[in-house]
Amino acid sequence: ATSSRKSLTIGLIPADGIGREVIPAARDAIIAVKSELPELKFIDLLAGWETFTRTGTALPRETVQTLKEQCDCALFGSVSSPSRKVAGYSSPIVALRKELDLYANIRPVVSVQGSAVAQGPTVDLIVVRENTECLYVKDENLIQTENGKEARATRLITERASTRIGKIAFELAKARPRKLVTIIHKSNVLSVTDGLFRESVRAVPAVSGGKYDDVTIEEQLVDSAVYRLFREPQIFDVMVAPNLYGDIISDAAAALVGSLGVIPSINAGDDFVMGEPVHGSAPDIAGKGIANPVASIRSAALMLRHLGYTSAADKIDKAVNDTLAPAKLLTPDLRGTASTSQVTDHIMGLIEKQY
Ligand code: ATP
Ligand code: MG
Repeated sequence: ATSSRKSLTIGLIPADGIGREVIPAARDAIIAVKSELPELKFIDLLAGWETFTRTGTALPRETVQTLKEQCDCALFGSVSSPSRKVAGYSSPIVALRKELDLYANIRPVVSVQGSAVAQGPTVDLIVVRENTECLYVKDENLIQTENGKEARATRLITERASTRIGKIAFELAKARPRKLVTIIHKSNVLSVTDGLFRESVRAVPAVSGGKYDDVTIEEQLVDSAVYRLFREPQIFDVMVAPNLYGDIISDAAAALVGSLGVIPSINAGDDFVMGEPVHGSAPDIAGKGIANPVASIRSAALMLRHLGYTSAADKIDKAVNDTLAPAKLLTPDLRGTASTSQVTDHIMGLIEKQY
């Protein structure tokens, strides 16, 4: 599919907060490897809280239409969502994942080799998070009873979504040295919903014509998975989880390698892929020019890798690792003093040296 593409059109949706500082860095990293890529075109697109306050919608129709009709892929920054319900507002990233059917959220968490940044055991795992259902269907209601308020949320788990996320996990595991899939669930309590997730993922190899015979399957209850993640993260390879558990586990795993600011992700579907740093809009540091651009730059690399541009992705990843490992030029989240642009410029310089 790669060689057939004559041009690569990338939607850029910085959205809110530090997204506006780190998405330009990711765009620059892609431009730095342009000789490995077809003709590049970038389209700036709106979404987010700020867009909502100005236009009354967090995800303008035009953004979705442009992504569907003109873009091959996209980079999304982060949104600042209000913690209270605001009439008319709903998270554009959750809507985009649904709208474009980006059902897999793939989050590799890797310690930097030889780095003073990551202390503790070496981590090299991928969290594969189901991206379209679970509690994120956001079907909630509140009623008044004689004993006070009562709130309920519906949690949706389907065989179809669990099977397709399972396939992604097995596919990723197959390509890795350890070839291990760990299913994360809580089916001792939620035997119906988590039970279906677990059974659906477990059933994937049986209908795959022996394709995954060399992949080992394990399971962990989500609570013990988090505990073991902190004590012995090296036991995990590919962790596959329903939406909410996947969200929590990947933030926890991020803490193990030093900062949320270095963890990339892609939201992938059968026809579209969107890179997105795992972190949020970081209101506490937004506008200060000190956000770590690494998560976004790595998200760009992961997106290019998913599209088949392996050597472009390798060049970006190598420049990032060679920047982090000496631990000389780091942003404050990694206990350094460098700015977003200093780190970005350094990474760009190292990419250029590889040519
Ligand atoms: P949101 O509601 O948008 O998720 P948040 O308050 O949860 O906002 P996060 O963005 O999730 O904030 O970040 C959690 C913490 O990690 C914050 O203290 C933030 O400053 C820090 N952090 C996150 N991303 C980065 C980054 N790229 N560089 C530096 N620090 C970061
Ligand atoms: Mg957050």
